[in-house]
Amino acid sequence: MQLRDFVAECDRLWPISGADDWDKPGLVTGALSQNVERVLLSIDVTEEVVDQAIALGANVLFAHHPPLLKGVNYLAEDGRKGSLVAKAIRADLAIFSAHTNADIVFDGVSDVFAKRLGLEQVVPLVPVSESAGHGRIGVLPTDLRLGELVERLSDLLPVTARGIASSASADTPVRRVALCGGAGDAFIEQAFAAGADVYITSDLRHHVAQESPLPLVDVSHWASESLWLEVASQRLANACSEVEFSVSELVTDPWVFNQERTK
Ligand SMILES: [Zn+2]
Repeated sequence: MQLRDFVAECDRLWPISGADDWDKPGLVTGALSQNVERVLLSIDVTEEVVDQAIALGANVLFAHHPPLLKGVNYLAEDGRKGSLVAKAIRADLAIFSAHTNADIVFDGVSDVFAKRLGLEQVVPLVPVSESAGHGRIGVLPTDLRLGELVERLSDLLPVTARGIASSASADTPVRRVALCGGAGDAFIEQAFAAGADVYITSDLRHHVAQESPLPLVDVSHWASESLWLEVASQRLANACSEVEFSVSELVTDPWVFNQERTK
C-alpha cells in the first residue's frame, strides 16, 4: 500500500482531529506516494530505534511521541534531531506519530493501561466526546492494599531504572483507580473529584505530589505507554493486511541506571 493509504488508516483509527491543540502528530518524513511493506512501532524516535527500523528494512517508523513536537527552524545534522531526521530521509524511512489523538480513544494508551491492570467499568477520566477522553477511571474486581496494586503494576510494566513510587503507605485501601498513561499531572483534581482512591501517572514533581488531594503512584512514562504498542500493532495489522508490523523491544526510557540506596 502507499503511504497515503497507511496515513488514512491511521487517521481512521486515531483521528487527528482528536489531538490536543499544542500537539503535532502525523507525518514527519516520507512521501505519500512511497510504498509501505514493513512498519516498526515504538514509543520514541531515538537513534537506536531509527537504526533498528533501517536494519529491518522498515518503510515506516510509527511512534507515539512526535519527534519534532517543538517547531524547528534549522535541522542541523550535527544536532540530535537533525541527524535523526536526515538519517531517516536518506533511508527512505517515513516517520509517523499518533500522540494525544491515540491517548484518548477506546483501545488507546490509557484505555489499554487500565484494562491490562485489570480495571473494570473503565470510562474516560476527563471526557472529550461520547467515548473518548483523557485518562481512565475504573474499579478493581476486589479491594486491594496500595502495596498490592503497586505489586501488580510491577508485574505488568516492563522494568525501568526509576521503578515505581507511591505517595501513600502500602496498607492504604484502594478499589477505585484513576490513571493516565504518560504525563498526567494535569488531571489530579479530576481524579480526586471522581472519587478515585489512587491516581497512577508519570513525571510527577515534588510540589505536585506533596499537594495532591489523593494518593499518587508514579510509574515510568515510557513503560506506561509501551503497553499500547501491541494493541496498536494488532489494529494496524487488521486494517492493513498486506503490511508487516513489529513492535520494537528497545527500551527508550531516558533513565537507564538507578543506584540502590543502602545508606
Ligand atoms: Zn507520552
